[in-house]
Amino acid sequence: MSHQTSKDFLKLLKNPDFIDGIYNYCDSWCERCGFTEKCMNFAMRKYKTPAHDDTGDSLSDVFRQTTDLIKQVIEDKGLSWEEVVNQADTQPLTRDPHQEADKHRNVINAREYTRLYGSFLREEQGFMKGKGVEFQNELNKGALSVEEAEEALSQIEDAFEVINWYQSLIYIKIRNACQLFFEENLSDFMTDFYNGKAKLTLISIDRSIAAWLVLQVHFPEKVNKITEILLQLEKLRQYIEKDFPNARKFVRPGFDK
Ligand code: SF4
Repeated sequence: MSHQTSKDFLKLLKNPDFIDGIYNYCDSWCERCGFTEKCMNFAMRKYKTPAHDDTGDSLSDVFRQTTDLIKQVIEDKGLSWEEVVNQADTQPLTRDPHQEADKHRNVINAREYTRLYGSFLREEQGFMKGKGVEFQNELNKGALSVEEAEEALSQIEDAFEVINWYQSLIYIKIRNACQLFFEENLSDFMTDFYNGKAKLTLISIDRSIAAWLVLQVHFPEKVNKITEILLQLEKLRQYIEKDFPNARKFVRPGFDK
């Protein structure tokens, strides 16, 4: 591939088909996303093709070009890069949003969900294998058709994928929303931004709850542990809806309109 210049990169960023900011409120699951053609983030990842990477400097090129563009924007506003960096270093903080976020009940409960999820996986390592054996026995007895077994396995596999994908997202996004919530003098854009992150967390919880319910149907013997996890997710969902009352109303570009 020929060397791509800053101009190519700018052209890529200015594609009119992109939906502005769609990647800010998505679940980053590009494999399952219907908006890849409209997403600048996705296009930027494609920009780093393996062939381009062979040169060994694709990533640093992209970062350098991005930094150059940011510097250009700052200079266009009549500021210097150094002034902006120094301002960021010297602005006094009356409270630390990171620390406040770490103590927030949403973050604590999201962390607890991650712990429950990890402990479920650790303690129940053999149960999927057991399910395979159970299906095989039922197939042998004629109690289950091949199609039914395949359908059940596909549901279980999908439920695990969904749970795995969203479990880290839930913690990361709600922590991000809580941290922004504690920042001072937020613009309307940033207020919308944290509501969008809270909404993404709620959607992640909704999908995770649905997936755990699928597991509960297929693994009735695990009902106690799964119920504990479901209760944790439900508690978190209710706290977030209370603490971020505008989150559900936030319209995510592309996804909600
Ligand atoms: S909007 Fe879709 S394509 Fe873009 S980063 Fe998010 S999941 Fe990936």
